[in-house]
Amino acid sequence: MVKGRRRRQARLWVLCYHAVCDTPRPVEDFCFLSAGRFEEHMRGLSRSRYDVLALDAALAAQARGELERETVAITFDDGYRNNLTVAGPILERFGFPATLFVTTGFIDSEKLLWPNRILQAVQRTALTSLYWRDHDFPLVDKRDKSAANARLQAAAKSLSPQDPGAIAEEIEHALEVPVNPSTAPGTDFTMVSSAEIAAARHKGIFQFGAHTVTHPILSALDQKALETEIAGSVESLRRLNGGECVGFAYPNGRSQDFDARAIAILRKLGINHAVATNAQPNTAGSDAFRLGRFAIGASDTWSILRWKLRKASVKSRLSRLGSNRRRSQRHL
Ligand SMILES: [Zn+2]
Repeated sequence: MVKGRRRRQARLWVLCYHAVCDTPRPVEDFCFLSAGRFEEHMRGLSRSRYDVLALDAALAAQARGELERETVAITFDDGYRNNLTVAGPILERFGFPATLFVTTGFIDSEKLLWPNRILQAVQRTALTSLYWRDHDFPLVDKRDKSAANARLQAAAKSLSPQDPGAIAEEIEHALEVPVNPSTAPGTDFTMVSSAEIAAARHKGIFQFGAHTVTHPILSALDQKALETEIAGSVESLRRLNGGECVGFAYPNGRSQDFDARAIAILRKLGINHAVATNAQPNTAGSDAFRLGRFAIGASDTWSILRWKLRKASVKSRLSRLGSNRRRSQRHL
């Protein structure tokens, strides 16, 4: 009995990565890890107290009360090709599975996601400073450019959450670079192709989930656009992935970035779990459509990653202690 209770309380920690690159970045970006950094994380996990399982297998085990040890699930957002070609061999070496949440409008396309349009514009511009919307952005060296990239991406998200691409276009004009350019095949920005999804699903390391068609902030959309973005991505992924797609990741993923309308559409489509980016471990009692995830960035060493998980562990224990105390006070 006690044993069973202990088993049910093992927690699931979901990590959220984006791109993994095998050449040095000209401009630093949170979402673009080096292969060396990613390998450092996988080595750390292999020596840690955590089991590593595929997200849907871990969720199913947890629901059955059979998640015996603290468990990590590895996920990648957006659908970069380098998840398969650079992270894939590293995952294979450690025997770790992973889930890719794919922005389906970019499959078989050479177009860039809007944050990467800004990143590429900052990389390519010949300007040494930018004055845009009453703000100065020095662009002299790599450090300036990395800071400008982060500030400009944050500005695009807050100025036009329903269409950040429009702000990316404004920034491309301001930086005097081509507007909405195609990317040459084989860059860090290249997305997976339909053939690569088909080949990867047979390897057994990767699973695929949906992440909208064009990556808008869902809570900013009207009902029709919301349905198109969610159903469009789930349906095209099912077409490419042998009919399978049970998971979804909300773009940006903070609690204000999606709402009950999105969850209702996901349920209707037969999706059984959706991940956010609230940095919390998941228990058997967690809401399957608001699963916690830890965003892991380019400058996170293994020690920082482990510290992020430990900090959340202490926080979740304290809040559990608080709710237990409130419950027992009610019984008095
Ligand atoms: Zn994303």
